[in-house]
Amino acid sequence: MVKRRDFIKWAGASGIGFAAGAFDMLAMAEETSAAFVPVIPTNTGIKGNVVVIGGGMAGATAAKYLRYWGGTGVTVTLIERDATYASNIMSNLVLNGSRTMSSLQYGYGKLASSYGVKIVKGDVVAIDPVGRSVTLGSGTRYAYDRLVIAPGVDFDVLPGLETATAQAKVPHAWKAGPQTTTLRNMITAMPTNGSGVFVMTIPAKPYRCPPGPYERACVVADWLKRNRPGSKVIVLDANPEIIAEKHSFEEGFALHGIEYRPNTTVLSVDASTMTLDTNNGKVPGAVLNVIPPHRAGKVITANGLADADGKWTSVDVLSYEAKLAPGIHVIGDASATTQPKAGHIANQEAKVCADAILRMFSGRALDQAPVTNSACYSPITFETASWLTVTFAYDPVSKTMLPVPASAGEASARSKDNFEEMNKWFTALMGDTFA
Ligand SMILES: Cc1cc2nc3c(=O)[nH]c(=O)nc-3n(C[C@H](O)[C@H](O)[C@H](O)COP(=O)(O)OP(=O)(O)OC[C@H]3O[C@@H](n4cnc5c(N)ncnc54)[C@H](O)[C@@H]3O)c2cc1C
Repeated sequence: MVKRRDFIKWAGASGIGFAAGAFDMLAMAEETSAAFVPVIPTNTGIKGNVVVIGGGMAGATAAKYLRYWGGTGVTVTLIERDATYASNIMSNLVLNGSRTMSSLQYGYGKLASSYGVKIVKGDVVAIDPVGRSVTLGSGTRYAYDRLVIAPGVDFDVLPGLETATAQAKVPHAWKAGPQTTTLRNMITAMPTNGSGVFVMTIPAKPYRCPPGPYERACVVADWLKRNRPGSKVIVLDANPEIIAEKHSFEEGFALHGIEYRPNTTVLSVDASTMTLDTNNGKVPGAVLNVIPPHRAGKVITANGLADADGKWTSVDVLSYEAKLAPGIHVIGDASATTQPKAGHIANQEAKVCADAILRMFSGRALDQAPVTNSACYSPITFETASWLTVTFAYDPVSKTMLPVPASAGEASARSKDNFEEMNKWFTALMGDTFA
């Protein structure tokens, strides 16, 4: 098990020669406070035109660092369909009322004003990899020398959840936004006499944020215990066991009396009777929180870029260039790599990708030894958290990012200190991404 001081060592070890990793990010967040005005270099000699699709954890970071490192000769256009970004990270804390959705919104003003990123609000529907352009739903076209795609995930539609009415009754809330608020309202509407059952389901991996569903179960069960005593939380997991922070969540599930059923897959949903049909029988609930299987955002699948299991894009992790589409880089949840689908890793992949694109523009060799880090904190109660961290290093034999063995581990116990550090880590990560 990694001790706290080792966690700090490894979390800060992912520099890729630049600002990456939790503690460098802390410094970056301090730098990007009100007094800090970043200097975009004018003399790097690098020239190029990059379009970035998606202004989430991966895309916003890539856009920022392409300018920050590349300078004013690199034109960066960030195309995002929403006016602001709603952070998934910390959105489980909206469910117990300790955060609000409005506190999790991030704008694109700093990327424009401090770094000169051109922000376009629009939905990319088509990609022309030969002519090197993308087209918005409005018909406007943008040409690129290199394209970065970071659309996050979309969700499979489970039988019974085809209609908007059914989806409204059974939210996944796995993309933070209105569904998160809906789920919060459903939880607070659970019966006060303790007769309510909250049922949540976890898809088979890979899905975004491996510890996230278990964290959600703990946060919800903790709130119910304090506010609707007697209520029950049942977790139906398509995986054979808890796939992240096993030790912490086993303790958390025991603490909260959560009923955990592994190897249980949802076959269909009956929203009218609020019942799930699974391979292990029918499960009714007062609240059903079904997290469906994922795939890359539609712009990937609709444009023939999903060559991994028909769902994700295979990439060269030295540059995140798509194996089947030269000039197109895919980062974040949408790519198929050995790294977890997580916001911290998305931020790190974006930096490796930005560095690679700038090297390509200037005819330099790619960094042959990239290192990335994933650090993740998980609330177990309203005031305690655990953590998980792992550092990945490039393995030239398998050509994949492999975990550095001594770096991998989780907290030995949940604690209030971890909860406080979680808030600092989150501020630093979001500052490094959006400010
Ligand atoms: C409840 C929950 C808790 C989580 N907690 C953590 C955590 O503690 N730590 C952690 O590291 N990760 C966590 N994650 C995972 C993390 O949120 C994701 O891994 C991360 O957001 C992935 O970044 P991304 O840039 O690939 O996708 P996103 O952040 O989802 O961004 C994708 C963006 O692309 C835009 N977009 C998509 N398609 C188009 C298009 N065609 N045109 C224009 N724009 C488009 C979307 O609007 C969106 O803004 C959590 C996730 C959830 C659901």
